[in-house]
Amino acid sequence: MTEMTIIPGSPFKAPPLFEGRHLIDGVWTKSADAEQSARKSPAHGALVSTAALGGRADAEAAIAAARKTFDAGDWAFSSGASRAKILLKTADLIERDLDRIAAMETLESGKPISQAKAEIAGAADLWRYAASLARMIHGDSHNSLGADMLGVVLKEPIGVVSLITPWNFPFLIISQKLPFALAAGCTAVIKPSELTPSTTCILGELLIEAGLPAGVANIVLGFGDPVGEVLSTDPRVDMVSFTGSTGVGKRISAAASGTLKKVSLELGGKNPQVIFPDADLDQAADAITFGVYFNAGECCNSGSRIIVHEDVAEALTDKVVALSRKVPFGDPLDPATQVGAIISPEHMAKIDGYVQDAVADGAKIAIGGAALNVDGASPQFYQPTVVTNLRPDMPIAREEVFGPVLSVLTFKTLDEALSLCNDAAYGLSAGVWSKDMSTCLDFARRVQAGTVWTNTWMDGYPEMPFGGVKESGQGRELGRYGLDEFLEVKTVQMRIGDTRQPWVSSE
Ligand code: NAD
Repeated sequence: MTEMTIIPGSPFKAPPLFEGRHLIDGVWTKSADAEQSARKSPAHGALVSTAALGGRADAEAAIAAARKTFDAGDWAFSSGASRAKILLKTADLIERDLDRIAAMETLESGKPISQAKAEIAGAADLWRYAASLARMIHGDSHNSLGADMLGVVLKEPIGVVSLITPWNFPFLIISQKLPFALAAGCTAVIKPSELTPSTTCILGELLIEAGLPAGVANIVLGFGDPVGEVLSTDPRVDMVSFTGSTGVGKRISAAASGTLKKVSLELGGKNPQVIFPDADLDQAADAITFGVYFNAGECCNSGSRIIVHEDVAEALTDKVVALSRKVPFGDPLDPATQVGAIISPEHMAKIDGYVQDAVADGAKIAIGGAALNVDGASPQFYQPTVVTNLRPDMPIAREEVFGPVLSVLTFKTLDEALSLCNDAAYGLSAGVWSKDMSTCLDFARRVQAGTVWTNTWMDGYPEMPFGGVKESGQGRELGRYGLDEFLEVKTVQMRIGDTRQPWVSSE
């Protein structure tokens, strides 16, 4: 495998085992039945954490604590300023413990340590941003309903929220939900992925240290069945905020419909980038390489399919292949590594299945196309892979591979490019590369996606809302829309003075 840039495994000394427990009503607890799961580092094969494996009783106890705490009203009616103070303190503590959190994130997920550190720093910024929103919650007033009437629209916390998160960005994604829910005055029950539970527990420790009252944020560890299902069906929960696969999102939506809970879903994507002949091909090639290999492609925003104009398809593909050779893949604990390990052997098999099926159906491999052996590390790595000669109907060109695999399609006209983008079940994000701003704007307005990037890829800011259309989800996170998701609207109409005409005559 001489054509790749491989960072070899360094001697691995496992850190002390992290022992995750549930956080219920301010108390760290084992499972009611004492069940536990264990997690090995996908890059090193070594045991790094154990976690209480929750059952129905643990999930119900956590929901009861969140419900009791919300209904008591102390948190829900606390001032935005006092909630902001706790969120700001949490941000400081996240920064204080950044190295510890990042190390655990890398060990459980396989992502590069430099990237994990950047994600934890970005998460701290989200807690600060949400703190600013906590002091800006306000509704509307209506002063033109007549001389004797004043109408007020209140924004109030929606209540008890279930927050269910995936394994690909464990700390960042809970930080896209929890501080916004807390800023709104909600109480929460959190279920991290069974593959990456520990950094959510560390966050629980920091929340206690920051002074968050017991019962406001509860954590239950375990599998989707039963913990996630209880969190989606229990009538004491008012809203479910879920990030994960589209398949599970649909199940949650169906489960939550039994009690008509609000559901907010951040799901999968098969995000296209369209490259016009007048684009800066070097910049586009670099962004495409980043977009497909970032987090080993295990990213909802992965730029996993490019739709490139016929005139520049070969030149652009050659540039991406050349850059692919230079991307440092390998031991995620090495600061030089930019792409680490795949989350599990089952997921490796899924990625490879897409590639091999495409090859059997006539696709060509421009680079990669198989597992990658890294000295001294477990073999859970996949080569940087570029696949060409595709038809738009092939699964690899339409479905979420969730690995370091780029699909290349071509087009002749803007209309054709748009129909390739929009003929899709997903609609999370899309990108366009052209020096002509009117081409970019025309594309941005007509493409069906929650986020559009022009001449860039995967930038994000706490201020900018994020979410998908079609089967990529519903609702938005981040920005002030991210706060609104956790707020309910209440109408209050107040008669001024004794002016009401009797409905029934008392005479
Ligand atoms: P997943 O859907 O398998 O699991 C996500 C979470 O749901 C986990 O905590 C899991 O235990 C839980 N779960 C599983 N079954 C459940 C059920 N029946 N009821 C309730 N909860 C259940 O997803 P994953 O494999 O952890 O993550 C990868 C997926 O997440 C990809 O599809 C990716 O695109 C998506 N994702 C989306 C975004 C986004 O913002 N749009 C961000 C990151 C990841």
